[in-house]
Amino acid sequence: MAVDRNELRWNGWGKPGDQAHIGDRENLVEAWLKESLNLPALSRTPSVAAEDVALPNARLGPSLQSSLDDILGPGHVTGAAMPRLRRALGQSYHDILRLRAGSLPSAPDFIVAPGNADDVAAILDFCDTEGIAVVPGGGGTSVVGGVTAKAGPAHAGVVSLDMSRMNRVISIVPEDRVARIEAGAYGPDLEAALAARGFTLGHFPQSFEFSTLGGWIMHRGSGQLSARYGRAERWFISGRLAAPGTQWASESFPGSAGGPRMGDLIAGSEGTLGVLTDATVRITPRPESRDYRGFLFRSFEEGAAAVRDLAQSGIPIAMARLSDVAETRFYQSFGGLGKQPPNLATRLGMAYVRTRGYLDHPAALILGVEGGAKQVAQSVREARDLLSQWGALHIGRGPGRNWWQGRFHGPYLRDPLLDWGLGVDTLETSAHWSNLTHLYTAVGAAIRQALAEVTPAGTTPAILCHISHIYPDGASLYFTFIFPRDLEDPVRQWWHVKKAATDAIVAHGGTISHHHGVGEDHRPWIEVEKDGAALAMLRAAKRTLDPAGILNPGKLLPD
Ligand SMILES: Cc1cc2nc3c(=O)[nH]c(=O)nc-3n(C[C@H](O)[C@H](O)[C@H](O)COP(=O)(O)OP(=O)(O)OC[C@H]3O[C@@H](n4cnc5c(N)ncnc54)[C@H](O)[C@@H]3O)c2cc1C
Repeated sequence: MAVDRNELRWNGWGKPGDQAHIGDRENLVEAWLKESLNLPALSRTPSVAAEDVALPNARLGPSLQSSLDDILGPGHVTGAAMPRLRRALGQSYHDILRLRAGSLPSAPDFIVAPGNADDVAAILDFCDTEGIAVVPGGGGTSVVGGVTAKAGPAHAGVVSLDMSRMNRVISIVPEDRVARIEAGAYGPDLEAALAARGFTLGHFPQSFEFSTLGGWIMHRGSGQLSARYGRAERWFISGRLAAPGTQWASESFPGSAGGPRMGDLIAGSEGTLGVLTDATVRITPRPESRDYRGFLFRSFEEGAAAVRDLAQSGIPIAMARLSDVAETRFYQSFGGLGKQPPNLATRLGMAYVRTRGYLDHPAALILGVEGGAKQVAQSVREARDLLSQWGALHIGRGPGRNWWQGRFHGPYLRDPLLDWGLGVDTLETSAHWSNLTHLYTAVGAAIRQALAEVTPAGTTPAILCHISHIYPDGASLYFTFIFPRDLEDPVRQWWHVKKAATDAIVAHGGTISHHHGVGEDHRPWIEVEKDGAALAMLRAAKRTLDPAGILNPGKLLPD
């Protein structure tokens, strides 16, 4: 197994000490952030130690543990402090704030690791009878409160289901280009097993290293190369679920007119309708060739029009990621920290780019194409032609190479920022093209205004945005914001901004989430997102599959 959760930070990203992308630039990064955010100084705000976290008392006693042991056999149930702490919350900014402060709203009484679908079914039946809430957990990287281990008011306690033992690739059928894989498989393991047979799933979220197939499907996620491989519900063909008293499977056909596709009820159900035990997914031959390169536009709006044209052109690309001006400048300065001053050739190049007006309001695009070598070469040629008609300046393969090498690095930056008294959060949405730049402006303004209300006067929070998933009819917007943290009440500060931004998203026609999911955090807005009758149908499905409401209470559906 590639991922051993015991080796990971309990209150942050990756393994302790793993900050390869900052390395010895720490002082430079700190000074640069201080200047960028216009702060007199950065505070030292370390996390509490794991031993000092006051875990909420477990409500389920030892007799319950022995009943669970009887179901799974010894060694697969624990109520020890560290595993309880590790499975209490996910990886959102809100979660990390509470972990670092050692103030947990709840924690699982036991962590239970089933080994197969029958184990899952037996655990659910037992918990149903005993009135115990069950929170299914994959990698626990949810950023919307999807894995908060909390019981409902009527429950006797809560167990967290650790799916990581269920990590087998059950079958690969090359002629169908499908694979059947257990839900607890982590990204790197699953890709290694497929690669050994010449295939890829192609789902690479930024959390790839530490997230699982089950979590990807259940949060309806999107990998960085979604333009080629599709978002989770596109490559997800069918799944098997266990729910209290029943096991069920969705149909598995390449196409079917046999009524609504029940798999659509699984993808995005966030563990509230059953536990996904395995899934059949579409796989693709590993690409023979990859081409990632950079372009510059004179404005974000011009770039957005160009990527719309690209999305509608039918040119097969793997990704197009367009940064707004703030994000372009932010990463340009960050990337340059500690580097040798540019040589003469680079300075001349920059002067040329400047005189052509590309540095006044620069918007950088990373274009990625992969597949067969001939097809890649042709697609890159066609995409370059199309982009140049929109005024794009081709800046070569260097930016593409940098993006590729650092594509999983961003999250490692969050922990040092939190150590320096800063806050950093992200949120995302999507809309049709005709509304996208309007939504971008409205949400950015709402974040800026809300931050101004909860940060000291004179500070200049960084608010960055990019378009990263494109479709013929629209695209996603992904915002990142960095700001001085309110050290007295950071949760209140977080919620103030989160609420303002999400209110603006729904008021201006965006979805409450393009790929993070609903969880606890977006649940207050689900009634705005879904039609009343549609929500009633979802509730009816919940009543049918989980009448006692033990499955992941407090997520997705309003009470
Ligand atoms: C730094 C960072 C970067 C991220 N980047 C991306 C990104 O690029 N794209 C993206 O889509 N998301 C991203 N995410 C969000 C998150 O990683 C995804 O939502 C991911 O799909 C969650 O997978 P997981 O295995 O960690 O699931 P968990 O967090 O463990 O669970 C997610 C949800 O699914 C449910 N669940 C998990 N397994 C099962 C199962 N077997 N049966 C039933 N329910 C289950 C859980 O109860 C929960 O509701 C990012 C998160 C972080 C922290």
